[in-house]
Amino acid sequence: MDDSGGLARLDRRVSECRACPRLVEWREEVARTKRAAFADWTYWGRPVPGFGPADARLAIIGLAPAAHGGNRTGRMFTGDRSGDVLYQALHDLGLASQPTSAALDDGLELYGVRVTAPVHCAPPANKPTHGERDTCRPWLVQELKLLRPTLRAVVVLGAFGWQAALPALTEAGWTVPRPRPAFGHGAHVPLEGGLDLYGCFHVSQRNTFTGRLTPEMLRETLGTAAQMAGLR
Ligand code: SF4
Repeated sequence: MDDSGGLARLDRRVSECRACPRLVEWREEVARTKRAAFADWTYWGRPVPGFGPADARLAIIGLAPAAHGGNRTGRMFTGDRSGDVLYQALHDLGLASQPTSAALDDGLELYGVRVTAPVHCAPPANKPTHGERDTCRPWLVQELKLLRPTLRAVVVLGAFGWQAALPALTEAGWTVPRPRPAFGHGAHVPLEGGLDLYGCFHVSQRNTFTGRLTPEMLRETLGTAAQMAGLR
């Protein structure tokens, strides 16, 4: 079922959320002060909704938007190095219409893939608090519920996203084993209810610059998940 109306409504509501005072202040402060290289931009400066079709079969769950990436452009993983790595991999796999994601109006389309995060506002030092993560969880739960009819695989980027995603998946109706499975790159947990969950190191600069996560490793994990989801 394509519930694009429901998801579009959810995305609009997310982008108006002001539930976390510290993050509201930070995202708006960054949008006002900007980075010199982006002085010409009107920063988004709001919560960044998920990106991708409402009938996605694969979801990629990150951490939170970057101050001068998603918080500037209004799209997840857009306008920074992390996004360059992620969208290049998706394009290599035939899951994105182009290898770059630069701005909301750049024409990028994802094929069967939805990219989202457990925290929708840029946090200082890329570190949301546990309280902020928990406050934002209902948005992820609603998004997963709307995707549930078609969703067959999830790739979680990094340990923070993993810890946030497991309870959200449970609340959205899948059965996560107890004790909860540990995060690891290459972790694969089939969930009751027909969902394959994968762990992957985050596409952060720290991981990609040091070679902890190579383009091949990312392509392999995303490609395996896409295959399980019936996208390849
Ligand atoms: S992080 Fe989530 S819950 Fe907090 S203000 Fe942003 S959208 Fe709202």
